[in-house]
This record gives sequence, structure tokens and C-alpha cells, in this order.
Amino acid sequence: MKGAHRVHRVVCPGSFDPATNGHLDIIGRAAGIYDEVIVAVLINVTKKSLFTVDERVEMLREVTARYGNVKIDRFHGLLVDFCATNGVSAVIKGLRAVSDFEYEMQMAQMNYRMAKVETLFMTTNPLYSYLSSSLVKEIARYGGDVSGLVPDTVLSRLRERLAEE
Ligand code: ADP
Repeated sequence: MKGAHRVHRVVCPGSFDPATNGHLDIIGRAAGIYDEVIVAVLINVTKKSLFTVDERVEMLREVTARYGNVKIDRFHGLLVDFCATNGVSAVIKGLRAVSDFEYEMQMAQMNYRMAKVETLFMTTNPLYSYLSSSLVKEIARYGGDVSGLVPDTVLSRLRERLAEE
């Protein structure tokens, strides 16, 4: 197949409130396959978040600094519009368990129908298959140890933020 159909630039979308080692695993693996990976933080004003979008972008920049081909951005509205504006032809998603599947398949099919944007799924590293940002926040809030589940810089910011609450 000719290059026009090849995927060069992909997007990893999400809330990243905050980024976990599960996210980083997918981002790092995507960076090893594609020329350029854009991690796009969803700006969702109706969803209560622990970290501001600026803070989430800053943390993602820190933890992906080692990859020369990963860029952090933000978006609101439709992901397919972000893809069109940024010349992105595919979305990369991590699949943790069957529970992720139904929702992700619906989104993937709708995005393809709307704009022919492809969605490619990567199976999660089994080390992180039970890991989610919301679970990390809940455990940390009640004093549980989440080291090893999030990057160190996220861990210290998490402790700081929860101490303020
Ligand atoms: P959302 O707001 O869609 O739940 P998240 O920021 O929690 O976004 O996650 C963004 C994406 O990162 C998910 O859709 C999923 O594809 C992937 N992801 C999240 N956690 C993990 C994990 N532990 N392992 C692999 N992929 C993950």
C-alpha cells in the first residue's frame, strides 16, 4: 500500500487526571511504533477533576520528556475535529479489560463513521490492567500507597493536592 494510507501521526486522548504508569506504557509503546504521538488532554468543564488541564499537561510533559516524538496538547469538543485540524489519522487506545471494550468499540465506530478516523487498540500491560486514574485518586485520598502505579512526579503532586483538601 502506498504511503498516503500509512499512519504517521496518532493521538492518545484522555482525561489523564492524573497520568498513570498504565497511560505511560501505552504512550511509550505508541512512540516506538509511530513517527509522532500527540497526547491530547480532554477539556471537560462539566467533569470535576483533581488537577487543572494545565497541571495535567505539565505532568504529561515531564513524564514523556524522554520521548522525542511525543507532544502534549489539549482539546475540547469532538476528537475527530482535533484529528482533522492536526492531520491525525488514527486514535490509539489502551484496552484494559472486557469492561472497556463496549464503550471503546462504540466510540471507535462512531469516529470512523463521522470522519474515517481509525482507532487502534493496544492491550494493556498486565502489570497495569487494573489501574485507572480514578482508582489511584481514591486510594491515595484514603492514605493508601500508590507508588509504582504513577510516575514519581505525579505521586508527589498527588500527595500535595490531597493534603490541601
Ligand atoms: P477517560 O477519561 O477516557 O477515562 P483516561 O485518562 O482515564 O481517560 O484514560 C485515557 C485512555 O488511556 C483510556 O481510554 C485507555 O485507552 C487508556 N488507559 C487508561 N488506563 C490504562 C491502563 N491502566 N492501561 C492501558 N491503557 C490505559
